[in-house]
Amino acid sequence: MASKTNSKKGTYGVIIALAAVIIALLVILISMESRGTKQSKPANTGTVVINSPTESKPAEPTDAVATPFITEAPTELPTEIPTEVPTEVPTPEPTEVPVTPTPSPKPRVIGGKTSANPNYEGKVLVALTFDDGPEEGTTEEMLNVLKKHNAKATFFVLGIQINKGDTYRALLKRASDEGHQIGNHSYSHKFPSQLTDEQLHDEVVRTSALIKEITGQTVTVFRVPGGNKSDRVKRVTGLPLVQWCIDPLDWMFFEGGYIRNYAKEHGISYSEAESAIIDIVLFEGVHTTLEGEPYYCPPVAYEMKHGSILLFHDIYMGSVHAVDRLLTFLEENYGNYVFLPFDEFILTENDAGPQAGVVYYNLWSTT
Ligand SMILES: [Zn+2]
Repeated sequence: MASKTNSKKGTYGVIIALAAVIIALLVILISMESRGTKQSKPANTGTVVINSPTESKPAEPTDAVATPFITEAPTELPTEIPTEVPTEVPTPEPTEVPVTPTPSPKPRVIGGKTSANPNYEGKVLVALTFDDGPEEGTTEEMLNVLKKHNAKATFFVLGIQINKGDTYRALLKRASDEGHQIGNHSYSHKFPSQLTDEQLHDEVVRTSALIKEITGQTVTVFRVPGGNKSDRVKRVTGLPLVQWCIDPLDWMFFEGGYIRNYAKEHGISYSEAESAIIDIVLFEGVHTTLEGEPYYCPPVAYEMKHGSILLFHDIYMGSVHAVDRLLTFLEENYGNYVFLPFDEFILTENDAGPQAGVVYYNLWSTT
């Protein structure tokens, strides 16, 4: 019994030992497996938690993210930042701008409207007008500037100037030959209020006859001396009256005496003063006094909307340089300006052209 019991005991012992081994193996296996999952889980959670922004959405996002950064960022940064930075930096330094005209002022989006005429699609049409000439020296230079910029304008001339001699007649002829329109600004520049109907009529007729004789052009437009338009002037002249919407007050700012004073005040040369004033008038605007009243002259370059009529005088060298600077700026920053003689300008929007008895302020505003 004892041996049986012993052998039984031995068998149990073996079984127990085997069971223990099996259990031990199981425990090892389980622990290995659990270690394996424990190891892989942290790895996963690690990826999710740490890398989720970049790597959990990696496969698709990498491309999606990469495109904007790689293709757009480089192209946008250079184009946007450079145009703004160099232009914005100089402008806030008002001390330097007046003296150094070189820093290019910031181009703005102006008006946004372009010609509705299919022949001028995408173009900004503007009428440049010049009064009180022809004048020896300055008119010639103005014609050179217009030629350089391929701009056509309208010269509102005075009969009294034309009759000053051959040089003046030649300037008028040259303006016409180069494609500019010649308008009538009266004979002697007397204001209509100083004249009877007959005298006013005579002023207009004499000047139109001179223009026709020298250039062959039939006068179609009148600019009233001093801008003193009225129903009476409409009736007596029988012509469309051309006013303006942009007036840089060049007779004040670009006149020699004003420039000399400015140069003296600022201790700079005449040409430096002229450049400084031109930049202020074109790009900054000026607060001044006109007929005893405060008057603000907005920056001309940023007023150049489609359909504008500008008023200049071709009798000041400062005006010549200002027009050159203005047209250069518009070419460099926009490149879609077209400067037309007045009749052509009106014809782009109105098939009938300028009408007698109508006052024009811009392409559409009339009274
Ligand atoms: Zn005038």
